Amino acid sequence: MTDTPMTPDQPAPVELTEQQLESLIDAGNRALNDHYHESQCHCDDWPASCVSSGHYFMGAWDTNAFAIGLPAVLSVWETLRNDRHAAKVSELRADNEALRARVAELEAAESRITAVELLVEEARDKCNHSVDTDLLLDALGLDN
Ligand SMILES: [Zn+2]
Repeated sequence: MTDTPMTPDQPAPVELTEQQLESLIDAGNRALNDHYHESQCHCDDWPASCVSSGHYFMGAWDTNAFAIGLPAVLSVWETLRNDRHAAKVSELRADNEALRARVAELEAAESRITAVELLVEEARDKCNHSVDTDLLLDALGLDN
């Protein structure tokens, strides 16, 4: 691929093989031919042939417009798509951060529960019917 200098507001060119671009151009021309046939005849023999007259055949409305315009159209489309992907990546990164923060909260809560369970076990081992409030607050991670 050659590096051609671009003006600032011109999007980067889409990287397509000649064959890929050709199939897109063919699809555009096929759609155009189908459209004009549909509006002028819409027989069941289309696209193999057309019953209305010899003037209508697949390719009758082929144009260079797709070959001329598609690279520019695809460049804009690619830019739009990249912008959308960049926005999605930012969104996913934010979600990821929020989830990591939530995991940290849940892990902290789990370790507080474990600390309280240990406190209760220790109290039972000593046949105590209550736990020290300061120790409980400490196990819960609360300031006392
Ligand atoms: Zn027809």
